[in-house]
Amino acid sequence: MGAPRKGVARGAGSPRVDAATASLLRGALLPWFQESARDLPWRRSRDPYAIWISEAMLQQTRVGAVLGYWQRFLDRFPDARRLAEAGDDELMAAWSGLGYYRRARALRDAARVLVEHHGGLLPADPAALAALPGVGPYTAGAISSIAFGLSEPVVDGNVARVFARWFELEAPVGSAELARRAWALAAELVPPAAVGAEGPGAWNQALMELGATLCGPRAPECGPCPVAALCAANRTGRQTELPRPKARAAPVEVELELAVARRRGDLLFVRRPEGRSMGGLFELPTRELAPGAGPTRLFEAQWPLPGLAVDDWPSVGELRHAITHHRIRARLLAAEFSGEVAVQGARELLWCTPSRARELPLSGLAKKALTRLARG
Ligand code: SF4
Repeated sequence: MGAPRKGVARGAGSPRVDAATASLLRGALLPWFQESARDLPWRRSRDPYAIWISEAMLQQTRVGAVLGYWQRFLDRFPDARRLAEAGDDELMAAWSGLGYYRRARALRDAARVLVEHHGGLLPADPAALAALPGVGPYTAGAISSIAFGLSEPVVDGNVARVFARWFELEAPVGSAELARRAWALAAELVPPAAVGAEGPGAWNQALMELGATLCGPRAPECGPCPVAALCAANRTGRQTELPRPKARAAPVEVELELAVARRRGDLLFVRRPEGRSMGGLFELPTRELAPGAGPTRLFEAQWPLPGLAVDDWPSVGELRHAITHHRIRARLLAAEFSGEVAVQGARELLWCTPSRARELPLSGLAKKALTRLARG
């Protein structure tokens, strides 16, 4: 790390920000946010429930992808009472395509706690929020500050990156050290409790907005940046160097075969077992080739249905798909199938038309396969 600079003091622990620097940063960033913030639908809502749903959806998912889901989810589940009653299929169908399905189940679990202990409403209390299933420090801080105007910090990947550049933090992306320093800085910078353009909610959103727009991971746009004069990395020309990258997990190549079993216009689907990745979603019967891929295996090595003898079925196409660091190549093997299939274990089988299947909670790969089959 470089030498301490005016405005930022470094001791044995985290960097400290003096009051004058904090005031300058707020004075530069908040007006920019008022003028330049993207018009996102959840920013027009003051309903803590609606804000909570948006924050849950936005975790690990791009804004563009969430835009199509948020309002539909609220139409179907307008409050915690309705969400608490949601069945698995209804919930998964509303979430299908957003990925990280544990988030949807955690939302419903949390809704049940809200109904049981908080009158069906989100509490204006960061500790009570953080005690809800699936609500970590980020979401508790976001709801507290945005919905209730409380002086609570938030740190997500955008905020950590912005701070790494403002204060020349040397810890790598995703490291516990960078998180620790970023949370300490966020707690020092967040304004006192208030609602409105000067309050903690606006400040936290402004930080995230800067990281999501001008101060992106690859090519920060420092020219129009409202805090360019206060940013250490901009002064030293290290914008693209910080935050330091972390060592990447090597991509894992996965080869699959998907059985397209047709019976009188229906297709056969299998539900993935609970407790596994994408548990509860329907997929085409799938097997992974090249057994022995080790603990990263997402799919079965054998056909999950003993009655399905697919080996001679012709290939009708190929798909590419990615799940986290898995790079998937999948062959579609199709045939008319008149026999019966046996269920192995507690799996659930379903024959249904492709159009009805689109209303099921489907895996992303199954959705892609349906689109590919519809093209012929
Ligand atoms: S000056 Fe550049 S590096 Fe610094 S916060 Fe602004 S966009 Fe990011």
